[in-house]
Amino acid sequence: MDDARYRELVRKDLAHWVHPLSHPSDHQEPLLYERGEGIYLYGHDGQRYIDGLSSLWNVAVGHGRRELAEAAARQMERLAFNSSYVGSSNEPAIELAAKLVELAYDNMQAVFFGTSGADSNETSFKTARFYWAMKGRPGKVKVISRVEGYHGTTLACMSATGMSMYYPNFEPRVHEIVPAASVEPMPSGGARIDPGNNNVDNIAETIEREGPETVAAVIAEPVQGGGGVHPPPPDYFRQLREVCDRYEVLLIADEVITGFGRTGRWFALEHFGVLPDLMSVSKAITSAYMPLGASVWSREVFETITGADPSVKFMHGYTNSGHAVAAAVALRNLAIIEEEGLVENAAARGEQLLNGLMLLGENRYVGNVRGLGFMCGLDLLQDPENDVPFDEEMRMGVRLRNACQRRGLITRIRGDSFVLAPPLVATAEEVDAILTIVEEGVKEVTGNL
Ligand code: PLP
Repeated sequence: MDDARYRELVRKDLAHWVHPLSHPSDHQEPLLYERGEGIYLYGHDGQRYIDGLSSLWNVAVGHGRRELAEAAARQMERLAFNSSYVGSSNEPAIELAAKLVELAYDNMQAVFFGTSGADSNETSFKTARFYWAMKGRPGKVKVISRVEGYHGTTLACMSATGMSMYYPNFEPRVHEIVPAASVEPMPSGGARIDPGNNNVDNIAETIEREGPETVAAVIAEPVQGGGGVHPPPPDYFRQLREVCDRYEVLLIADEVITGFGRTGRWFALEHFGVLPDLMSVSKAITSAYMPLGASVWSREVFETITGADPSVKFMHGYTNSGHAVAAAVALRNLAIIEEEGLVENAAARGEQLLNGLMLLGENRYVGNVRGLGFMCGLDLLQDPENDVPFDEEMRMGVRLRNACQRRGLITRIRGDSFVLAPPLVATAEEVDAILTIVEEGVKEVTGNL
């Protein structure tokens, strides 16, 4: 793109578009993406970049997939949209609901469609309340959430998000959504995890304190993503399931990032042999070729809610629920994931990526190398042995991100945590290319310390 056109677009962008998580001062020289192919993105600057985070953890099958464009076009020509409100339906969304139930945990029965991760979580929260009301316990309304969890930025989801940087000027949060530990800013922008997040005691204590008769659900990401990629200790989710059962509280798995193969299994709680009651999904369900999300319900939740008296309606709905084009794209996308063995590829390439990052751990400033499947993270630390962060002013995470971007790798940081989640189609050679760039970037930013 020529410079004059770029400048004109940036001027209009700054004048008319309020970006997510933004201040205009951070948007003076935005990277304008022009096209994508496979794991690569091409910018206005003529550069090719590896999409190291699958954009926003969502472009699972890679960019530029003609099959998905064709699936969308076919459905648009036939029927782009119909109401999915009660009494009307459409073929792709019906087939997708059945397919999701086939792929999801054994106890799952039905789905409620939305268009995003946040609205899927909203549906899960409201479903938990509705379920308990149907059980004759309408006082069970609260949702307990975890430190460093990310669940979206609607008012309820922001309240469940355990990162303080999302709250300023949007308070008060929804009081019935209760963090399981205090959400304080963490050193160095907050990346490393409060040890309290690694055992379930604070969840049990919070339920006790609030009163189990007031608590509807606990929400948790199987692997925390936005918080900086934090896989749980192996026994965490089994214990969390026990706590939920003990206090008669539903478990909502927020699999908006982890769903559809990201961790090397279709859904991440498979790693731990745990079944949730509700599951929120989005992102890789369409590989982001169309906006789509869903709250997936267990048989018990479904039968309790649909078994109510006909006068008791589930009065929750979005115009774009069960959008025919999004559903057609999702069906084709899930078929690609199956046909190309991308869940298995995520497991194998994830192991390669993690092993490569572990070698970087030999650098004296790299610590906490971690990952599950194709979701990995590491921290830059002044003293990794003792978990001592760099001074915030040094902005080590930003420097590493920039060093990688200059070398053609785009990804994300949280404080001084650096995370990677490449498209599930990445090959062994492409993972090696990512590792080479990260190694060079780490050397650059730690070289003269
Ligand atoms: N839940 C998790 C785990 C997420 O990572 C995200 C977004 O990154 C969301 C929910 C919110 O999704 P959306 O941004 O589509 O509303």
